[in-house]
Amino acid sequence: MRTFSTIIASSTPIGRYLISRLSLRRSHAISVKPQASTPPMAAADASNEESLRRTLAEKQSAVDAQGNAVRALKAAKASKPDIDAAIESLNRLKLEKSSVERELQSVVSGSGGGASVNREAFRQTVFNTLERRLFFIPSFKIYRGVAGLYDYGPPGCAVKSNVLAFWRQHFVLEEDMLEVDCPCVTPEAVLKASGHVEKFTDLMVKDEKMGTCYRADHLLKDFGNEKLEKDLSLSAEKAAELRHLLAVLDDLSAEELGAKIKEYGITAPDTKNPLSDPYPFNLMFQTSIGPSGLIPGYMRPETAQGIFVNFKDLYYYNGNKLPFAAAQIGQAFRNEISPRQGLLRVREFTLAEIEHFVDPQDKSHAKFSEVANLEFLMFPREEQMSGKSAKRIPLGEAVSKGIVNNETLGYFIGRVYLFLTCLGIDKERLRFRQHLANEMAHYAADCWDAEIECSYGWIECVGIADRSAYDLHAHTEKSGVALVAQEKFSEPREVEKLVIAPVKKELGLAFKGSQKNVVEALEAMNEKEAMEMKAALESKGEVEFYVCTLGKNVCIKKNMLLISKEKKKEHQRVFTPSVIEPSFGIGRIIYCLYEHSFYTRPSKAGDEQLNVFRFPPLVAPIKCTVFPLVQNQQYEEVAKVISKLLKVAGISHKIDITGLCSG
Ligand code: AMP
Repeated sequence: MRTFSTIIASSTPIGRYLISRLSLRRSHAISVKPQASTPPMAAADASNEESLRRTLAEKQSAVDAQGNAVRALKAAKASKPDIDAAIESLNRLKLEKSSVERELQSVVSGSGGGASVNREAFRQTVFNTLERRLFFIPSFKIYRGVAGLYDYGPPGCAVKSNVLAFWRQHFVLEEDMLEVDCPCVTPEAVLKASGHVEKFTDLMVKDEKMGTCYRADHLLKDFGNEKLEKDLSLSAEKAAELRHLLAVLDDLSAEELGAKIKEYGITAPDTKNPLSDPYPFNLMFQTSIGPSGLIPGYMRPETAQGIFVNFKDLYYYNGNKLPFAAAQIGQAFRNEISPRQGLLRVREFTLAEIEHFVDPQDKSHAKFSEVANLEFLMFPREEQMSGKSAKRIPLGEAVSKGIVNNETLGYFIGRVYLFLTCLGIDKERLRFRQHLANEMAHYAADCWDAEIECSYGWIECVGIADRSAYDLHAHTEKSGVALVAQEKFSEPREVEKLVIAPVKKELGLAFKGSQKNVVEALEAMNEKEAMEMKAALESKGEVEFYVCTLGKNVCIKKNMLLISKEKKKEHQRVFTPSVIEPSFGIGRIIYCLYEHSFYTRPSKAGDEQLNVFRFPPLVAPIKCTVFPLVQNQQYEEVAKVISKLLKVAGISHKIDITGLCSG
């Protein structure tokens, strides 16, 4: 889930919501935290590993000491029995050391040595089968292809279309969502407002001689994992240091990442050349709209912004009622720095996104009871922090105990679980992982990723986030169009309103060209800040006030503004809705589905291994095959009639007239 972590400029015009320093560290959609390749190491495993590393270090010292003793005996021409006894003792120590080494190896490589080798072999078999059967084709293959771009071939298209049809049925139809279809080419203004232009970046390093680019955090992650898995002589302290580094990788600044790369002597993986310092690289593909080249634009990195900018019309279409959800399926484009994980990290992919708009004061969900009894693997923040594993929690309990922030978020977690498992994702290899505090944007109330385990580890396939009112606020501010909802009161309500009235004449005299910044900052104060300023002005006559857009304090005097509270009758409440966003990476789900459906079996003759995808009918590209069991004209005619009937019924199939049932 991408992460906008921001520090709010409380004194900017849009007060709480606009960002003065927006540090969007794009989430590593394939999370670096608890994955199989970066084992989450339960507390018991970690302490076991630590004690094994210590024991191994002791055994190594004992072997070294005994080796020296044997050499000394030989040099002193000691008696043969003495030398033999010393050698025997050395061999015993070596055996003990090997046994500790084996134990350590099995702990560090997860479920026993060779696990990662098996995973890779399995992945290769699946990948080859998929490519051979044209589920996918590397794009522009005859021109040697382009990393991170893949075509779907005929069966791949059929699977994708089945997955999307089910997505529409399960979400759009079931929840009466309003589906939209917006352009991929997006003007800069939209993506500036959303923060993408400034901060949709990953930190990159370059091979200083060849110019090849790498993601800085990926290099460190690979280095750390390899050391932990392969270097058994690593001391317990160094191992703990590396584990810590892997856990905080997301939080490191460019400087910190650069320092670590230097400290560990990491070089370009392909050439071993030195690397540049890390610097941010914006992942959006830039373009210009129209022939003049004067209207800058980007290929959208997500579909969500198209929904946000249409909020006003959609709200009206929905009868000015909340809650409601809008949905969109479409292509997203991210110029990934060095896409390495096959079909999982690509540069153009299909996203299916839902933006469910709710009143921030009421995030209950009318249909929550329908999913409350579901029980599945959840990995709350607490469990991750204390080194525990994911555990089964009834969804109702997760919401009532506040583990999941609210019912609507919980409802969507439940619906996503049903969606994925109906498609054929293995329940045991699906978990919902809560974002840690350092992964979550400041404005987000809570975020959970549906992670599916495959040969690459635990992969984020669906992000489900309560993004509060951030996006609508940002577009309201930048477009000048109020993206708000109203609640009409049955009876007018008396409310006390804060009134901040800057005296522009006095402010103009005092601040001249900066007057606008000061006025906007004063007007953006919240009630607490305003009342504190009022008290200070009354007691001292003037007060220091920080104006973020000027980057300095200014002196506000009593005659420069009036702050009061007025009683008013209100007939309605106007507010910015919160949004709960499930965001589905369709390609990732499909790839995991391929792995979960794959198995091998011997052919009937027993002379070869067959690679098989056991798809549920819902996603199977071909639902059935018509076999005229005997090769003869009459049977073939009947097969054609059956085929015609199947076509009319919309059932994809093929006819096999070889007369042989394949086996
Ligand atoms: P994000 O907007 O980063 O939360 O991404 C939303 C979803 O898109 C993720 O949950 C992934 O499933 C998917 N996704 C993100 N980046 C990529 C990529 N480079 N290739 C394929 N899928 C991606």
